[in-house]
Amino acid sequence: MTAIETLRSTSKATLREVLTRLQTEGAALGHFNVSDQVLLKAVIAAATETKLPVLVGASEGEREFFGARQLAALVRTARQETDVPIFLNADHTHSLAKAVEAANAGFDAVTIDFSALPFNQNVARTKEAVQAIKGINPAILAEGEIGDIGTGSEIKETAQGGKLSTPEEARQFVDATGIDNLAPAVGNMHGMLKSMVQGKAKKHLDLERIAQIKQASGVFLTLHGGSGTDDEDFRKAIVAGINIIHINTELRVAWRESLDKSLARDLNEVVPYKILRPVVDSVKQVVSSRLRLFHGQPVSPEAVGTVA
Ligand SMILES: [Zn+2]
Repeated sequence: MTAIETLRSTSKATLREVLTRLQTEGAALGHFNVSDQVLLKAVIAAATETKLPVLVGASEGEREFFGARQLAALVRTARQETDVPIFLNADHTHSLAKAVEAANAGFDAVTIDFSALPFNQNVARTKEAVQAIKGINPAILAEGEIGDIGTGSEIKETAQGGKLSTPEEARQFVDATGIDNLAPAVGNMHGMLKSMVQGKAKKHLDLERIAQIKQASGVFLTLHGGSGTDDEDFRKAIVAGINIIHINTELRVAWRESLDKSLARDLNEVVPYKILRPVVDSVKQVVSSRLRLFHGQPVSPEAVGTVA
């Protein structure tokens, strides 16, 4: 098999197969949220540029704006046109109806999120959703969440969350719900503080807890709220057992800053694709640099600078 043929055959691999392979390679799959086609173009361009697999994510709000079926159709065509595996996740899904809608639209994975409920209710509602989506597509990956890491991929004044997950509740939750991957609270947080956007502060993870939860649960682990996390902590978290890493706020910051700049460049410019092309490039740079880091590849300092 030539290198291109190997790549082509890899591009037809399932999400589960890709995650299993990355785990043995000491790498993690990057999950990047999109609200519109500018962000989607950036994520696909980064995957193509780095030749690394990606998981495109869209929360309920992002799906509502984009259109769940429209997004699924665009990801499907991108997958056919490129040689790298591109998957689609229904991020933070808070109802059975929305989980079923995503499964029917052809999403590869669903993040079922009843983590705001008491543990027993979280178990019951998650289990119900897992059974429903696997009834539609047995190959779909079901993710469940425990603990509190705050909500909203936004710029924040103060830190949110706090209740970290324990190995024991992780084991209980996985056994009772039948999920394929677990999203625990291990020092991660949704959104970024202003100091993080300015590059003056970084998030740090409870690496020992990640390793303990991995051992107790025995499933794929997802790290939500990855934006603004220390690079070294990311690498160590992957070694400890993290398989998927979510990045959203860093993309949104790059999107906003580059859009502001692009609009200010020429006040008479009205051609959307001329205004938006540099925005796609800026977001793509952030995605590419995060992808390289998650795969243990050298990251250029300029690319890291744009994240901060
Ligand atoms: Zn999240």
